[in-house]
Amino acid sequence: MIDTHCPYCALQCGISLTTGDGPPRLAPTEFPVNRGGLCAKGWTAADLLDHGDRLLSPLVRKDPADRTSPLRPAGWDEALDRVVDAIRTSQRRYGPDSVGAFGGGGLTNEKAYALGKFVRVALRSASIDYNGRFCMSSAATASNRSLGIDRGLPFPLADIAQAQAVLLVGANPADALPPSMQYFDAGRAAGARHVVVDPRRTTTAGGAHLHLQPLPGTDLALANGLLHVAIREGLVDETYVRDRTSGFDAVRATVASYWPDRVERMTGVPERDLRETVRLLATATSAMVLTARGAEQHSNGTDTAQAYLNLALALGLPGRPFSGYGTITGQGNGQGGREHGQKADQLPGYRRLDDPAARAHVAAVWGIDPDELPRPGRSAWEMLDRLGTDDGVRVLLVLASNIAVSAPHTNRVMDRLRALDLLVVSDIFLSETAAVADVVLPTAQWAEEDGTMTNLEGRVIRRKRALSPPPQVRTDLRMLADLAGRLGRGRYFDDDPRRVFDELRRASAGGTADYAGITYERIEAEQGVFWPCPSEDHPGTPRLFTDRFPTADGRARFFRVEHRDPAEMPDADYPYVLTTGRNMQQYQSGNQTRRVGALTMALPDARAELHPDLARRHGIADNDVVELRSRRGRALFRARLTDGIRRDTIFAPFHWAGSSAVNALTDPTLDRHSRMPAFKSCAVSIARAGGP
Ligand code: SF4
Repeated sequence: MIDTHCPYCALQCGISLTTGDGPPRLAPTEFPVNRGGLCAKGWTAADLLDHGDRLLSPLVRKDPADRTSPLRPAGWDEALDRVVDAIRTSQRRYGPDSVGAFGGGGLTNEKAYALGKFVRVALRSASIDYNGRFCMSSAATASNRSLGIDRGLPFPLADIAQAQAVLLVGANPADALPPSMQYFDAGRAAGARHVVVDPRRTTTAGGAHLHLQPLPGTDLALANGLLHVAIREGLVDETYVRDRTSGFDAVRATVASYWPDRVERMTGVPERDLRETVRLLATATSAMVLTARGAEQHSNGTDTAQAYLNLALALGLPGRPFSGYGTITGQGNGQGGREHGQKADQLPGYRRLDDPAARAHVAAVWGIDPDELPRPGRSAWEMLDRLGTDDGVRVLLVLASNIAVSAPHTNRVMDRLRALDLLVVSDIFLSETAAVADVVLPTAQWAEEDGTMTNLEGRVIRRKRALSPPPQVRTDLRMLADLAGRLGRGRYFDDDPRRVFDELRRASAGGTADYAGITYERIEAEQGVFWPCPSEDHPGTPRLFTDRFPTADGRARFFRVEHRDPAEMPDADYPYVLTTGRNMQQYQSGNQTRRVGALTMALPDARAELHPDLARRHGIADNDVVELRSRRGRALFRARLTDGIRRDTIFAPFHWAGSSAVNALTDPTLDRHSRMPAFKSCAVSIARAGGP
């Protein structure tokens, strides 16, 4: 039996895994995040290990010249030779950037680091980005510019239980991170007041003291309205603003026009609820403002996160005990995955690729000349949108991502994937993306390799190897090292996770996300170590901002932000707003969880939630099949009628593929700062498509 962590979400719940006689079995541990709790996904995670759908050897197209020919099993040499031939041909014809990689927030820190290095050092290409651009980039951008650092929660999760007031915006932890609810529940049981902002009455919202239901895309106006009320009612912490921040006067002037009655008209949130929310937050001895994807996945997502940061700063929360602003990460290594260089503009340690000092430091660790490092490349959607074009990527390597389901506007993505010269996908199952690949590489999964993950608190934890992968399955570290060797750059790469982590520590040293003092042994002994941790005798940093902010002058910065309408507004043809999100039983694109019998039995299909009044207008009954259409595509769902959702809004989950792929509908318009697509708001029509 070994102690390790759940393979799914950003809580990284502790589990013990027993292997040996019979199928692998798991049970929760008392790890300080889940404290004995697990959700349905975690309880069934061992089902992945011996699943019948597992990829057990590389696959290649029977006829390499015909991308519609069937996939057939192949040896590793044949598969990797095909990849390397295509890389060489493409780079000779179209230049180094014509070969690229798309990574994932589920990769271990070691793999995320190795992938970023592989693209810059082995391919010498600028073309890399990852699916975290689709989930965390807006809050990350706002936190970096305002607080000088991007760590999802700047305090341990358990602090939530001590906060006297919590404003939770666009988050549904009861379904997305169920074991985390013990902290919210403990807080409420001790008298804390919680306010949830969500267009749906989710399980989380149902248990809150107050539920605000704004129209999707108006969260920024709501935040500015809350700050307006705080100023008008004299609830701003003027001492904190004076001593610890800069830029408030401009924000004060901006929010002056966000009168509560105007904000009520923009958002639909009653004026009295605005006032009550602000009073709860401002009069509590400790208070938190937490945002998640509901607020962030918009074409103004960075500014929306900033508006809530402005509110938290004006109330003097960041750095105060059991208080602050945080953002709730979703993917398993959503935090670590964005720190080690698989972003288009970034080097390990959360360093900027366009910073000469950062380039020099990382190049020295890698043993290359800084001038060999490429410049920043295109963001995820911008890369996908140009696949197969003369100035785009023509050979794409995809790790830990199912972009055929998880990217926005998937019809466009599928067209671009088909235009590639070669698509290579590394996965444990034949995902929807792998199914259209030219080469599929079977990779080891969570209990078959060592590695570290960084959870939503910035706590670096260890996943441990408990089983050997099947004989023809390799780790991604080995695959990248093998490819680099064939490209003549093998000496720069290692397939041993511990040695890769030690190199990552050196590369991150002195950066924002400093892992220099974190070792495998310390992680084990201390139940995880919080970054930044610059030396082995440093205790790690569970709580940030207690004395100063990591900005040039030590102050947090306000930024003035204004409401802008979503890029796509409802009209006569598409009269409703579609918003997307999670179900408890599924994870991300569903590539893993849709194969787990117990989970699909609990929730067999995709359900679109709509208000009974809206349903009546279109002759729709509960359980009917409905068709949603947007300007980009259509998708089918089973209707779930609920008076807990706004009358003008429809919700659909993003875990399903094929005819129920909601991202066939979603809007790829990008946030101008973070390059995050507007997943959470687009215009749709609805029609009944069939009975139960
Ligand atoms: Fe796994 Fe997340 Fe569920 Fe915990 S909450 S068991 S980490 S999926």
